[in-house]
Amino acid sequence: MNIEALRGELEGIKVEDHPAIVKQKSRDFYWYSPVLKERLDHVTGDLVVSPANEAELIRVLKACFRHDVPVTPRGAGTGNYGQAMPLSGGAVLSLADMTQITAIEPGRVICGPGAIIADIDKAARAHSGQELRMFSSTAKTATIGGFIAGGSGGIGSIRWGGLRNLGNVIRLRVVTMEAEPRVLELTGKELHKVMHAYGTNGIITEVEMPLTSAYDWVDVIVAFDDFMPAVRFADALGREDGILLKLDTVISAPAPYDYFSRHRKFLEPGDNLVILMVAPHALDALLTFAEQYECRIAFNSAAAEPADLAGLPPAYELTWNHTTLRALKIDPAITYLQVHYPPPDHLALVEKLHTLFEGEVISHLEFTRFDGDVTCSALPLVRYSDEARLDEIIATFEKTGAPIFNPHRYTLEEGGMKRSDANQLAFKREADPKGLLNPGKMIAWDNPEHDFGDSRIWLFKGLQKAD
Ligand SMILES: Cc1cc2nc3c(=O)[nH]c(=O)nc-3n(C[C@H](O)[C@H](O)[C@H](O)COP(=O)(O)OP(=O)(O)OC[C@H]3O[C@@H](n4cnc5c(N)ncnc54)[C@H](O)[C@@H]3O)c2cc1C
Repeated sequence: MNIEALRGELEGIKVEDHPAIVKQKSRDFYWYSPVLKERLDHVTGDLVVSPANEAELIRVLKACFRHDVPVTPRGAGTGNYGQAMPLSGGAVLSLADMTQITAIEPGRVICGPGAIIADIDKAARAHSGQELRMFSSTAKTATIGGFIAGGSGGIGSIRWGGLRNLGNVIRLRVVTMEAEPRVLELTGKELHKVMHAYGTNGIITEVEMPLTSAYDWVDVIVAFDDFMPAVRFADALGREDGILLKLDTVISAPAPYDYFSRHRKFLEPGDNLVILMVAPHALDALLTFAEQYECRIAFNSAAAEPADLAGLPPAYELTWNHTTLRALKIDPAITYLQVHYPPPDHLALVEKLHTLFEGEVISHLEFTRFDGDVTCSALPLVRYSDEARLDEIIATFEKTGAPIFNPHRYTLEEGGMKRSDANQLAFKREADPKGLLNPGKMIAWDNPEHDFGDSRIWLFKGLQKAD
């Protein structure tokens, strides 16, 4: 790697090399995991390059290729697994300045990878009363390119499924990492080559996403004395075809009262919550549905007094990985897991695992559509003791039938299905022959013989040494 030679070729392109700023832009929310915090805390790039457009980006990639400089793309750095951290140093490629929204049409938006998700929604709403189908709970800060390359789904997934479902991304424009970078337009099944690939095999320079009708979503919080009635309510509500929801979350006691400080005035100790976003025209139907259950409407933004709403975050900022953030702010010893509960036995699995780890694992479920059915994924909070105990909990979940997408690992495979993705690997061979894009994140590239049955963390040989 020849950083000085690279620097000499970046004339006219925004470059930052102040060590403190480079270090700050070399991290994401990896510290959610005590395991990743310990291993990645020292990681930093050599410089941050921020191209303003695709032409500048191609110049950067060509120069990095020539001088063997690793390139780690970065949107807003809100990922949770060290995804945007440059394990071997080199250039952090910030896409944050490529924010242009080029077209909004009925049912679609075209924009740069650095566009902030909430800004896309704002523009689409002002243009024609439309919004994105789904967004991550970090929508106010995260970029659309980072969501597609590093995220999975979120608010809207109860109606539309995950990003991976066909139709939820229309087209991606991608630049390869070669002596002469190519610009490719990917659609249909080609999209999966680069979606959720952590930028290991191409840089997304333009996205085309589907839009749907925008609503003034109403936040409703329903409280239950016990956990399983809340779960059954959320599951049944998710299957009510006529009630248009954007969010259907269950959070077990004691988390809501202990961690949701700004909503505490509406809550009681011991509350188990179902947190919902419902379209205004479906609110009556939702309240009618709730009458069948022993529950309390703890909060309804459509009926709240203006004074009650002052300073209150939107309900979605209590959900998805914001639940963990709120818990961590109050109890730094908390960490979390990511679990999938396959239908049709998801409720039985939830109950079994909830009971098994009561007091140590606090249940948090996100109901979503999944291949035509409704099920839940989960981001349970874990009272962390040590790595060995965390591994034990993970092993028990998996043995019981609930696969874990391990958020305490920085590789695609260990954080995903624990097998290599042949499609993404083949595309990396073609699009990044020197292996310079986001090194260390794809095990299959570095060690094709790796045994995915080994639950110990895989250590990338090129990981920077701590001083
Ligand atoms: C509080 C909190 C809540 C969250 N909630 C959710 C949620 O609801 N749903 C969800 O899916 N995730 C969630 N996340 C994870 C993360 O916020 C989202 O996935 C987010 O959309 C990532 O966007 P970003 O711009 O921050 O990406 P970054 O973190 O900057 O990057 C993510 C990955 O994409 C790569 N990348 C970035 N831009 C490009 C590009 N243009 N081309 C190629 N590769 C690129 C990076 O190298 C990295 O591997 C949450 C995280 C936190 C901390």
